[in-house]
Amino acid sequence: MPVFLFNIMTGNPATRADNPENAEKPEDFRFLLEQFADLKIMRYQVPGFSSLPNRQKIFIYYLSQAALSGRDIIYDQNYRYNLAIRRTLEHIVLNYKGDRNNPDFDAFMVYVKRVWFSNGIHHHHSKDKFFPEIKRETFLEFLNDSGREGLPLKQGQSAEAFCSEIAEIIFSPDIAPKGVCQENGKDLLTHSAVNFYEGITETEALDYYKKLNEQAAAEDSPSRVSFGLNSKLVKSDGRISEIPCRIGGLYSEALERIVYWLGLAADYTENSVQQETIETLISYYKTGDLKTWDKYNVMWVNNTETHVDFISGFIENYSDPLGLKATWESLVSFKDMEASKRAGIISANAQWFEDHSPVDPRFRKKEVRGVSARAIVAAQLGGDCYPASPIGINLPNADWIRKEHGSKSVTIENITLAHEKAALGNGMLEEFAFDEKEVQLAKEFGSLAGSLHTDLHECLGHGSGQLLPDTQGDALKNYGSPLEEARADLFALYFIADPKMMELQLFEQEDVYKAAYNAYIRNGLITQLTRIRIGNNIEQAHMRSRQLIASWCYHKGKQKNVIEFLKNGSRTFVKINDYNGLRILFGELLALIQRIKSTGDYEAGRDLIENYGVKVNPELHREVIDRFSALNIAPYGGFINPVYVPVMHDSEIADVVVEYPENFTAQMLHYSANYSFLPDYN
Ligand code: ZN
Repeated sequence: MPVFLFNIMTGNPATRADNPENAEKPEDFRFLLEQFADLKIMRYQVPGFSSLPNRQKIFIYYLSQAALSGRDIIYDQNYRYNLAIRRTLEHIVLNYKGDRNNPDFDAFMVYVKRVWFSNGIHHHHSKDKFFPEIKRETFLEFLNDSGREGLPLKQGQSAEAFCSEIAEIIFSPDIAPKGVCQENGKDLLTHSAVNFYEGITETEALDYYKKLNEQAAAEDSPSRVSFGLNSKLVKSDGRISEIPCRIGGLYSEALERIVYWLGLAADYTENSVQQETIETLISYYKTGDLKTWDKYNVMWVNNTETHVDFISGFIENYSDPLGLKATWESLVSFKDMEASKRAGIISANAQWFEDHSPVDPRFRKKEVRGVSARAIVAAQLGGDCYPASPIGINLPNADWIRKEHGSKSVTIENITLAHEKAALGNGMLEEFAFDEKEVQLAKEFGSLAGSLHTDLHECLGHGSGQLLPDTQGDALKNYGSPLEEARADLFALYFIADPKMMELQLFEQEDVYKAAYNAYIRNGLITQLTRIRIGNNIEQAHMRSRQLIASWCYHKGKQKNVIEFLKNGSRTFVKINDYNGLRILFGELLALIQRIKSTGDYEAGRDLIENYGVKVNPELHREVIDRFSALNIAPYGGFINPVYVPVMHDSEIADVVVEYPENFTAQMLHYSANYSFLPDYN
């Protein structure tokens, strides 16, 4: 599971300035590159890269090439026309012969950049389709004045027919309005644009995988694979079948390139475990076999020794409304030694936290295994991790592997730092914090509080607790993701205020957890509304979980005035009156959600999410959007990647140097020219 930044402005510019590896002086580095629509483009540094041994630098270089080679996959997974659309837009960007210095062309470029950012025509976060702010005729003129050579025509299609079809797909509000539909009561598959199912209804898909799961259950093996994870389910002539993603199957052309680079990387691994891990991954990409995928994950989770690490595969299932199919992603990283100490202390005490968790003892793990945590420096983002990147990751996702082999948790230090640097002084905190004291707490302790929250969420939260033996891992269906995020957040919120934290010397004063509580409640009740369009409800799993927690605690603590809404003129604020009371509520909700997960109580889970996590108060929403617009801040951010340049000696790579480009458009065009391997339609 990925963790995304929830607190736009946390504050402390001195984060890990004491880390000698940060010698590249963040003060002089331009983190924020540009802003358009509701997006900002940032850069991240890769501190410590140049002092790695050459062998590791070359390893990272090959892995980063593999990470880039899968870029087309996520476009096609998000929507089957995305590659054709992206190529049409890039065709105009590269070939348009008319005047580019006018508002229409500027607006067109904003649309192109939004498509690049979201890996398709649906907003990366809200999953709503977005549109160019120019007339359809203007778009067709641009297309006309760009020549016809190289357009992504379908077989036998005329250029004329293609242009009007692609314009219709881009401009019509009736075609594919939702990337991922989560609306209660609708057929989630036929109302979603994502390309995991073709001609299949929700009931058909659920039946299909239910049967597979029942067959597997009959075999009575605890190591049950995640059916459907890396395939497309299609119906033709009334028959339902799966097309696996593998070499020779779906996305073959991209997977061949990924395997090519992984093969080169395999010569530079740090030990035999890592070498075998890569070879198993290659074998998985060749066969698409889910047992091999599980085998790879077990090896990967057991490899905690190497300095360089990476993920690559069909991993996260947030884009499938049924939570079965995964998007392709990759992240290449190496260990951040200094920051890993903090996460290490938390992991080393995992059993203590589990034993003291405020949930029913039946749902606690008797033995918390292999909770390995570390802080990493991201070196390359790819697929679904790019350009919008998580700030923490906990993998693998398969419940049986987590139970038997544990999981690996990372917080991505340089990405978190880049977010903080880019947000400094944007006025968000001053506008939404209740008073000056809250601002000061956030500035002084926000950064540490945020890092600790992420550590607790990733290292302990997701790995804690257990299902009752008869409970299916997917019993909570589409409510599984937000409830799982809520569970991990609550674990973090409950324990960050525990005296144990100070005993472990993770911080020295209560102000740190107060800063964490302030930020969480302020975000869950107020500031995350800035990410929702007027008239919409909350759909994204992490956001649902955050509102659920904040809103549930507000309502349950109302009588004792634990959290209070206050007005200053027309502006609304939240204030925590009773930190200890709030901590008790966090514990109660954790116990409730753990019970729901452990027993697979779908109805109770659905009620919690629908009652507290989905609906927004329209008046407050409007007010928050108005205040936020006045600040002129983009609510979402993503990153461009650094570039690794091999230094050749004879025909061998002798060294690799890192460069930090500054132009988003240039990087996207470069990727499309050099790392685009899939056909227009798959
Ligand atoms: Zn999580």
